[in-house]
Amino acid sequence: MTPLGRALRDRIIADGPITVEAYMDACNAFYYATRDPLGPSGDFITAPEISQMFGELVGACLADCWARAGRPADTAYVELGPGRGTLAADALRVLRSAGLDPTVHFVETSPVLREAQEAAVPGATWNDDVASLPEKPLLIVANEFLDALPVRQFVGGIERKVKIAGGGLAFDRDGEIVETSPARDEVVGALAAHLVANGGVALIVDYGHEKSSPGDTLQAVRGHKFAPLLDKPGEQDLTAHVDFEAVAKAAREAGAAVTSVVTQAEWLGRLGIAARADALARAHLHRAGEIEAARRRLCDSDAMGQLFKAIAIHSPSWPHPAGFE
Ligand code: SAH
Repeated sequence: MTPLGRALRDRIIADGPITVEAYMDACNAFYYATRDPLGPSGDFITAPEISQMFGELVGACLADCWARAGRPADTAYVELGPGRGTLAADALRVLRSAGLDPTVHFVETSPVLREAQEAAVPGATWNDDVASLPEKPLLIVANEFLDALPVRQFVGGIERKVKIAGGGLAFDRDGEIVETSPARDEVVGALAAHLVANGGVALIVDYGHEKSSPGDTLQAVRGHKFAPLLDKPGEQDLTAHVDFEAVAKAAREAGAAVTSVVTQAEWLGRLGIAARADALARAHLHRAGEIEAARRRLCDSDAMGQLFKAIAIHSPSWPHPAGFE
């Protein structure tokens, strides 16, 4: 067993079974605090690590929205769970060329990743949570952040827990599962309230579904492969698909305006990924094949194009960002 596995076993022996939510929370806190999980030698890869086009189109979307909002001075760029800081560096390049050089705030708990972010975006400020973000208009980005926040699971209305069985960990019940995520609802609600009070927009991109529906979406990934959920606690990435209907509801309840949910392929397509890929390929002829392969990975239906979705929430006094219906 891993060190965290032993600690969880001792906790369950002392206090009884723990909820799936508590298990996921403990595993991910340990996992992210102790490593950089991104890239070929890590556990998974994300859109900004596949291609600079992703962060650039995010930056272009934010720059356009900010311009149509009347170019408010003193607007800050905020990213939740910025990984290696790659998306932020690409987006900020585009924002600066559009005439905005924002202060940068990262909401990140991992000391290892904070170091990588500092190298990618010198001068950034870190916040432990969204409650401490500055009271000014914000351009907020969250790519593959909400999936890492813990979910609760219910079987027949009873909360599912992790117990000890045969010396290892096991779920205490099986059956048709319904998931909720109070942790996500809380973050989204806090962001939305901030946008309503101060102005700004949040772009949220993640894998998940447009409508709430029953189903077990909890998954563990290690070394780019799915792994059993209760194996190696703290040594693999635990995530759950994002319920975008729940995200929209939490934002609306806080008074924010909410766009439709669109697939990543639709969104990047409308933001002009084909033209950006062509321009990049013309400027770097020897990399043309690699650029086209990256575009396909981001947009093809059998890659990230359909499973990944985007939604935006914004202050009612700000315009709808581009790329949504
Ligand atoms: N957005 C990045 C990284 C995604 S991985 C990309 O697209 O490449 C998830 C990120 O969320 C990591 O940076 C991780 O450290 C951070 N994270 C996970 N749980 C968190 C929490 N509860 N609070 C703050 N950051 C968290």
